[in-house]
Amino acid sequence: MRESEGVVKVLLEEKEIPDCWYNIQADMPELPPPPLNSATRQPVSPEDLTAVFPLGLIEQEISQERWIDIPGEVLDVYRLWRPTPLYRARRLEKALKTPAQIYYKYEGVSPAGSHKPNTAVAQAFYNKKAGIKKITTETGAGQWGTALSIACCFFGLECKVYMVRVSYDQKPYRRSFMEAYGAKVIPSPSPYTEAGRRVLEKDPNSLGSLGIAISEAMEEAINNKDTNYSLGSVLNHVLLHQSIIGLEAKAQMEKIGVYPDVVIGCHGGGSNFAGIAFPFLKDRFEGKNVRAVAVEPLACPTLTKGAYLYDYGDTAGFTPLLKMYTLGHDFVPPGIHAGGLRYHGAAPLVSKLYHDGYIEAKAYGQLEVFKSLVFFARNEGILPAPESAHAIHAAIIEAEEAREKGDERVILFNLSGHGHFDLTAYEAYLNNELDNVTYSQAMVAKSLETVPKIEV
Ligand SMILES: *Cc1c(COP(=O)(O)O)cnc(C)c1O
Repeated sequence: MRESEGVVKVLLEEKEIPDCWYNIQADMPELPPPPLNSATRQPVSPEDLTAVFPLGLIEQEISQERWIDIPGEVLDVYRLWRPTPLYRARRLEKALKTPAQIYYKYEGVSPAGSHKPNTAVAQAFYNKKAGIKKITTETGAGQWGTALSIACCFFGLECKVYMVRVSYDQKPYRRSFMEAYGAKVIPSPSPYTEAGRRVLEKDPNSLGSLGIAISEAMEEAINNKDTNYSLGSVLNHVLLHQSIIGLEAKAQMEKIGVYPDVVIGCHGGGSNFAGIAFPFLKDRFEGKNVRAVAVEPLACPTLTKGAYLYDYGDTAGFTPLLKMYTLGHDFVPPGIHAGGLRYHGAAPLVSKLYHDGYIEAKAYGQLEVFKSLVFFARNEGILPAPESAHAIHAAIIEAEEAREKGDERVILFNLSGHGHFDLTAYEAYLNNELDNVTYSQAMVAKSLETVPKIEV
């Protein structure tokens, strides 16, 4: 046998799955300002949230406990695909002729093909425990809807998914994927809700957006007692559940005696980025030198071009007002292929940390991102999701910088999902049909005009 050049894959044993989630609220130098009730503009009370969320999740949303136990029922499901592998991208390093070490955590091994089941399973569990019968949600690229469909199926809950119109048309197989687990899938905007009808009246050909789909899903949950709503990103409890990614990655790197100089994740609402980065930021608060980089599309530049304001999480204004980087809740992003990154806001926890200088943000166009994605696939074998490719692109830029500067930095990124359902996007790229869509500061200023003016 040919002698190995060293570690390519670091695995943990099943019994090494972390048994707690990490809550960064315990360690942040300053907490984000509280969500506000949209009617009273006072901080939301837990009671404000009980119409759509179970108590278990509301408690986690506001908890400042550092470690939160993962229930055994949730761990039992996690065990189906966790711990996920950590890879060293040796072939990519060689192709780039970089002295840097590149590691990636691969979340594409879950049944949904992304990191999203980490929170879907937890959310389904707490809803079931609270006696809820049905969960509504929105989905963009389809990954969240798929994750929740699987989770609801495991815990015996009905699942109804409002799917952003452009994705519904671009990704018909995603719908079948969700329906296979028993979910109901409806293109959004739909004629079945007040919020959907309002959009369709103005624009019958609306491409939809996550904001609109959230409005529709929330409306149904608010109007039905046995129905709750579930969000796949942005909220504190979602970021908490995703911390399992970074906790595992940390244990895996520890096993081989390395520690990252920079941790990278793509950024839509902020959950997979937070998942990989927050456990490392814990060390940064304790004085360790580690950078965290969130990567977004130029077409939806929430962190890099948005404003740090109180805004709604949805188009119709059903959600509480969240202090976050936002492009404005009316923002309808261009129909780029990284559908999972087309959200107008950023998680309040990520926003606050970015605002306070603990996180860096970068934005790239889909053309350069796809180039890196194909380069990665041809060297590492895995076919990544277009969303994840933003993290890959940033990692490659870091590795090239290391080559120029001659430093041996250690790069860790999260490969949030595989791209097996994104082949129409690959097709467009390979046929030279992709454009670099950008969103200018002037367009941002315009979409921010509708954001409520709140001084805090
Ligand atoms: C949904 C999704 C994202 C973006 O969501 P975040 O909450 O920002 O993580 C990124 N990658 C994949 C594969 C996704 O499915």
